[in-house]
Amino acid sequence: MGRRGKRSTKRQNRKIIGLILALVVIVLIAIGANPNVINTISEIAGLNITVNEKQTQNSTENQIGNQNTQVPAGENLVVDYIDVGQADSILITTQDEAMLIDAGNNEDGEDVVEFIKSKGITKLNYVIGTHPHEDHIGGMDDVIKNFDIGTIYMPTITTNTKTYEDVITEIENKNLQISESKKGDTFLLGNANCEFMTDSILDKNNLNLSSIITRITFGNTSFLFMGDAETENEETRAWPKTDVLKVGHHGSDTSSSEEFLKQISPKIAVISVGKDNDYGHPSDETIKKLQNLGATIYRTDELGTIELVSNGNNITKKN
Ligand SMILES: [Zn+2]
Repeated sequence: MGRRGKRSTKRQNRKIIGLILALVVIVLIAIGANPNVINTISEIAGLNITVNEKQTQNSTENQIGNQNTQVPAGENLVVDYIDVGQADSILITTQDEAMLIDAGNNEDGEDVVEFIKSKGITKLNYVIGTHPHEDHIGGMDDVIKNFDIGTIYMPTITTNTKTYEDVITEIENKNLQISESKKGDTFLLGNANCEFMTDSILDKNNLNLSSIITRITFGNTSFLFMGDAETENEETRAWPKTDVLKVGHHGSDTSSSEEFLKQISPKIAVISVGKDNDYGHPSDETIKKLQNLGATIYRTDELGTIELVSNGNNITKKN
C-alpha cells in the first residue's frame, strides 16, 4: 500500500511538473522566446514540441513589415528627393531598375523629366502617383510621355481637375492601365523589396487620405514614403522601425503624430517643401517631434535635391 501510494504520488508529481513545463513552453512561444530555450524545456517536459528557428523569425518579420533582401556586394539603392518646391517627386534607382514616386507640380514636369534623363534612365519600371493633387501628379503627364513605363499605381479615387484629366489622357495614349495598390502587396525593384503599407482611404473631401504609402527595404536598410498621408492613415496599423522617413504632407501638423513617429523612430527625416510656402509647412511641432527623436532632418527648401545612397547596410547622403 505504502509503496504503491508513493509510486502514484510520484507519477502525479511528474504529471504536474509536466503540465507546468507545458504551460511555460506555451508562454515562451507566445512571447517569441529563443527557440533553443523552448526546445530544451519541451525536451525535459517530454513534450513533442519543436520550434523552428526560421518560423519564429518570419512571424516577427511579418509583424514589422517586409523582409530584408539580399544585396550583392557593390550594389546600391539611390533615392533622390528631387527639389520641386512645394511638391513631391522622388526617384528611386537600383542597378537595373527605376521607380518614380510623384512628379511635382505642372510646371515641374520638364525638370523632373530632365533629372530622370540625366541619370541615363529610359524606362521607369514603376510609377506611383500617391494621390491626385497637383503637387504630386502635376508633372506626371510629361513623365509618362517621355519614358517607357512599366507598372503605374494610383489610388482608385478620381477627381475632375485638368491636371488629373491630363494624366489620365496620357495614360490612355500610351495604352497603360492603372494598377491598384493593396495593403501588404509587395514587388521587387531590382534587389529592393517594396511594400504597400495601407489601403487608400477614399474620401472625396480629403484626397490626402488616399495617399499610397510605400516602404522599401534594401538589405538591412529601409525607407518609408508617406505621400501626403495624414494621422488618420497613420492610425490604421502598427508601423515598423524605418531608417529614412519621407515625412507625410510636407511636414504639416495634420500628419506625423507622436505615436506614429515613435514607432518609425527614423534616423533620417526628409521633408519635401517649398521655400516660404503659403501653408506654413513644415510645422514647428513636426520639426520638434523629429528632433526629440534624434532624427537628422533634411529639407529640400534648404538643400535642394537630396540624394541618399544605401549599400544595404549604411545610408549616406551624397551632394
Ligand atoms: Zn502635397
